[in-house]
Amino acid sequence: MTGSLLDRLGGLWRRKTICSVCLKAPASGVYSSRYGPVSHAACDACAGQGAEPLYMVCFHIHRAGGPGAAQERFANATSFHDGRYIGLKQILEAYPQFSDEFDEG
Ligand SMILES: [Zn+2]
Repeated sequence: MTGSLLDRLGGLWRRKTICSVCLKAPASGVYSSRYGPVSHAACDACAGQGAEPLYMVCFHIHRAGGPGAAQERFANATSFHDGRYIGLKQILEAYPQFSDEFDEG
């Protein structure tokens, strides 16, 4: 894992013209997270899916107490990973990629 949390979040804004969810399409606007006081740029497709950046959703889950506490609050969470939209089950499968980094701060 490289880069600090702030580097990662800063990276989202340096690419603000690109969707911070799928990292491919041009962003069409800035949207508020359903889970915390942060915003992200998203394209029309990702906004339509209600998808939020994977790293950001995992961070919200961490702040809420981790995967064990996530089932109810994040039941309808949607993100994007490996070229497709994913739900909570796949988000939690990706969570360990980030959780060590969250614990550093
Ligand atoms: Zn997108």
